[in-house]
Amino acid sequence: MPDPTRTGEKVFRGIAVSAGVCHGKVFLLGRLASSIPEYEVSDGGVQDQVARLERALVDTRMQIAEVQRSVSEAMGAEDASIFDAHLLVLEDQTLINEVVRAIQQKHINSEAAFHQISERYATALGAVDDEYLRERAADIRDVSSRVIHNLQGNGDLLHLNRFKEPCILISHELSPCTTAQLDKKMVLGFATDTGARTSHTAIIARSLHIPAVVGVKDLSQHLETGHHAVVDGYNGLVILNPTDQTLFEYGQLVRRHASLDVELQDLRDKPAVTLDGARLVLSANIDQLEDGPSISACGAEGVGLYRTEYLFINRDTLPTEEEQYLAYRGVAEAAQPHSLIVRTLDIGGDKFPSHFQNPTESNPFLGWRAIRLCLQEQGMFRSQLRAILRAGVVGNIKIMYPMISCLAELEQANAILAECQAELRSQGVPHAACVEVGIMIEIPSAVAIAESLARRVKFFSIGTNDLIQYTLAVDRLNERVAHLYQATHPALMQFIHQTVQAAHRHGIWVGVCGEMAGDLDVIPLLLGLGVDELSATPSVVPEIKGLIRRLKMEEAKALAACALESESDTAILSRSRELGRRAAPHLFESNQRGAV
Ligand code: PEP
Ligand code: MG
Repeated sequence: MPDPTRTGEKVFRGIAVSAGVCHGKVFLLGRLASSIPEYEVSDGGVQDQVARLERALVDTRMQIAEVQRSVSEAMGAEDASIFDAHLLVLEDQTLINEVVRAIQQKHINSEAAFHQISERYATALGAVDDEYLRERAADIRDVSSRVIHNLQGNGDLLHLNRFKEPCILISHELSPCTTAQLDKKMVLGFATDTGARTSHTAIIARSLHIPAVVGVKDLSQHLETGHHAVVDGYNGLVILNPTDQTLFEYGQLVRRHASLDVELQDLRDKPAVTLDGARLVLSANIDQLEDGPSISACGAEGVGLYRTEYLFINRDTLPTEEEQYLAYRGVAEAAQPHSLIVRTLDIGGDKFPSHFQNPTESNPFLGWRAIRLCLQEQGMFRSQLRAILRAGVVGNIKIMYPMISCLAELEQANAILAECQAELRSQGVPHAACVEVGIMIEIPSAVAIAESLARRVKFFSIGTNDLIQYTLAVDRLNERVAHLYQATHPALMQFIHQTVQAAHRHGIWVGVCGEMAGDLDVIPLLLGLGVDELSATPSVVPEIKGLIRRLKMEEAKALAACALESESDTAILSRSRELGRRAAPHLFESNQRGAV
């Protein structure tokens, strides 16, 4: 390897979240909010910037009013009145007019204008010899950061439209909603300062088949638009100014993968069966109707998880029942002759539709999310259930509720489902009279009551992404605690085992649809623990099948028995990895740069 200091090559390490390698010019989307991006806008763009500002002011006002309402409910009106000062800042016409003037006269983007003017006001107030006025400076800064945050959330797409050629996107962070909108023809790959492997941003990158690395700490501070870089989504590296030797080695790696893909393609129509004859169902996780063709192309047996929330985001209105029906029907047709498991809406956490009143919560993943939100926003839930039932006429559709934490939620959801069925019947609308219902097991309380739940549903699908975060109290989005997010933690082994045992005792099947199902390192363990189905993003399905077909169930069972006795997550992981590597070395070694 050439001397990196002489060549200017610089390597940044992060978390590999989406396989593949790309090389190209960098487009810097955004740095940490503390450095507010400032860019010039054209005459025609000024009006857009003012409109963005107005929208961000409205959003901020609604968010503060919502916080005020919940504080008032929890602590009384007096404590909630502190937010009146924040609302007053947002209504201060002198400040807002000055920001608008700055946009119009200096031709700059709205977040830069808002930051400059509000900071001038705050500094002036902070210097006054009056305690009351000094406190108002803090209010202005607080409100200002909320407005800028909202502007940056809405602003990503505006930046994205400014690409002139295919490029590598570098950003401090990237929301799942923005990621879902990336144009594969223009974005070769991306890397972010923040993020972790099971964030929805990472999941979308895998389903788009775009190489991605996240959690590269302060990467966005070192790269500029126009720089040349490589994103290595196999090994979690971003390489600035790659040398010719580096590019040559990556060329070899890409070629090795291409020949592996050809070899795996031969397995497409073969079953996922171990050497000693144990048969698993291998299905695909998909996010949108456009993913339909990839289901059979990757050799999956239907869809084990259709994340329907992407039909609801990046748009101004809710999708109608008809629109949903057409989407679900389209995916059901693409999944045939196999089944399609439609997961009912799982918005909240890190995914909120833009037309939805996004509540400010201190713990969004523990808050108003998934089935909890649907049981309160029943209009939206009913229209989704009706659309699924109608699409059930065309294909073999099953319904899956996310985030079930207690029996009452399941019973309430089923009662609403029965009402939707009765309504369709009385209206004479064709629909599936009988649809299998299952649930995701992704909350520790669901594992604890798995016996009771198993009596009431047709299947379980273990959502390991959330089950890990809730079991270990490790935020799945936070790169600072990513080292604690251990799929092979002994507690997880026990939970998966208990879930499988409960399901099988009641004669129902159990799958895994979290990212563990696509992780070659732990697949031997999942097999040994007795799961019946694995559902993963289409791009990894061929490799999973390749591995399963070289494993022996007998060995996988011995591995799982050991794991259930073990006290060490690293020992469990290395045993599982070792078994996989022994069985199918070519699947593991092809990711190493410089390997032959
Ligand atoms: C999971 O939690 O494992 C899962 C599949 O759901 P999501 O990643 O969408 O939360
Ligand atoms: Mg989940």
